[in-house]
Amino acid sequence: MTRAVASLGRPHVGVLAVQGAFAEHEDALAAAGAAPAEVRTPADLEGLDAVVLPGGESTTLGLVAEGSGLLAALRERIAGGLPVLGTCAGMIVLARATTGGAQPLIGGMDIVVRRNAFGRQVASFEAAVDVPALGPEPVDAVFIRAPWIEEAGPGVEVLARHGGHGVAARQGELMVTAFHPELSGERRFHDWLVGRARARREAAGEGGRRDRVGAQ
Ligand code: GLN
Repeated sequence: MTRAVASLGRPHVGVLAVQGAFAEHEDALAAAGAAPAEVRTPADLEGLDAVVLPGGESTTLGLVAEGSGLLAALRERIAGGLPVLGTCAGMIVLARATTGGAQPLIGGMDIVVRRNAFGRQVASFEAAVDVPALGPEPVDAVFIRAPWIEEAGPGVEVLARHGGHGVAARQGELMVTAFHPELSGERRFHDWLVGRARARREAAGEGGRRDRVGAQ
C-alpha cells in the first residue's frame, strides 16, 4: 500500500515546524493513528483536522510565525474550532497573556502563564504528575524551562498541578501542557487530539466540505 493510500481516512494533524522539537510529536501522532504533516506557512493549514504547537522558544516561535502570517491564520482556525495541543512554548503562545510582558501570541485560551516559572536551579526535571482526566496512571512529565499557569478563567479546566501550580489544562478544543509528553512516550494527550481531529473530520464529511468552506 502506498503512503498516500495508507493515509486515507486518517485524520490529518499538523505540527508547527517553525522552530523547536517537532519530530517526536509526529511519531506520537502517527502512533495515535493520525497522518502527521509539518506546518511552516499558512497554506500548510489547509485540510488539517488538528494542530500541535510544540515546545521551543516562544519568543522566537511567535516572531517567526507572526512574520509569515501563521499566527493570524492559526488564530482564525482556532476561532473556527480547530483542536490544538500546545506543549510548553506551545502552551505559552496559546495563552491570552504572559506575566513577563508583551510578546507575539496566538491566544485563544483564557490563561495567563509565567515563563521559565520553575526557576534556574531546577530548569529541567522529570516528575510523575497525576492527570485524573486521563486515567489513574500518572504522566511521566518532562519539564524543560517550563512555564506554569498563573491564572485560569472560569471556562478553563486545570487538569494537573505540580507543586501547587497548574501544568495542564483544557478549554474546549484546546489542550495545553507545561511539560513535554512526547519525550517520555506518553501518548494520552496525542490520543485525545487525534480523537478530536477524527470527530471534526467526520462532522465535516471527510474534510471535503470544510476545505471548500475554508477556501472561500
Ligand atoms: N522557556 C521556553 C519559553 O519561555 C519554553 C521552553 C520549552 O518549550 N521547553 O518559551
